[in-house]
Amino acid sequence: MLSVIVAPEQPSERGLILVVDDDASTRTLVSRWLQKEGYEVREAPSGEGALEVVAALTTPLDCVVLDVMMPGMNGVEVVQRLRGIPAVADVSVLLLTAHATGDEDVVAGMDAGASDYMFKPFSGPVMVARVRALCRRTQHARELKAKLLEAEEHAAIDPLTNLYNRRQFERTLTEEAARARRHQSPCAILLGDLDYFKTINDTHGHAEGDRVLTYFSSKVQSILRGEDRAFRYGGEEFAVILPGADVEGALRVDRRLREALARDPYVFAKGHSNVINYSAGIACAQGASDFTFKGIVEDADRALYAAKRNGRNRTELA
Ligand SMILES: [Mg+2]
Repeated sequence: MLSVIVAPEQPSERGLILVVDDDASTRTLVSRWLQKEGYEVREAPSGEGALEVVAALTTPLDCVVLDVMMPGMNGVEVVQRLRGIPAVADVSVLLLTAHATGDEDVVAGMDAGASDYMFKPFSGPVMVARVRALCRRTQHARELKAKLLEAEEHAAIDPLTNLYNRRQFERTLTEEAARARRHQSPCAILLGDLDYFKTINDTHGHAEGDRVLTYFSSKVQSILRGEDRAFRYGGEEFAVILPGADVEGALRVDRRLREALARDPYVFAKGHSNVINYSAGIACAQGASDFTFKGIVEDADRALYAAKRNGRNRTELA
């Protein structure tokens, strides 16, 4: 009786390599060399097969050793396709090609985004050394990308309140405007401003004022749904973008926030507690034509101004 032992899917310390070649003996040869060095290897007999392996991966790929001449999808096409798949877009690719057909394939493959090439027949140790260098390159690219993402995230956040900052507000609203247009869906924004914040600052000092902002922001965060985003829009001004929400939806968010603030009043350093109130304006855009970035913000701003003028601690609709 045959039994198949499936290796557990865990990242090998040396890296994960995909070997793609229509010639079974070359594939086996390359795999053996790499496995001997401690690499984990997946094999595919065609370009189409390679894409299937990539789609099923659960751990990051470190290098692809890729035959150029294959029936069906050739190596150059495979490189092009890989570059379009986010999970493997930065993976180094080592082209393997026969001397006889060499130069043009190499040029096309490198232009398509391959990192290096070797002619067949190849020296095992040299091939392994190249794969090793390419794995390092992939890993560096991956680390760099992670750091970049972290830095971008950092640059989008207001350090005091942990809400997104105003720059990010404009970016998010532009994205949401495009999405609302595409899906013909509504989008609402709520622009709010803490009431009598200047009095808090003047009476209790700026450090206390900062703590009030932090407290308030955590209340805002606590009532948001998955897609909602909250921003520190100015000093004591905040904004919430509510994708998919109409006026009713935005009013519900506003109500939830006021309830959360009333349930858990802010406790001042001196010991007494107070409900922190705010004034707000809500504007909503429905579908395509009326959704303009500037318009909706100006509408919400005017509504906020009306809420202040009409006595504060209230919400007005644009
Ligand atoms: Mg071939």
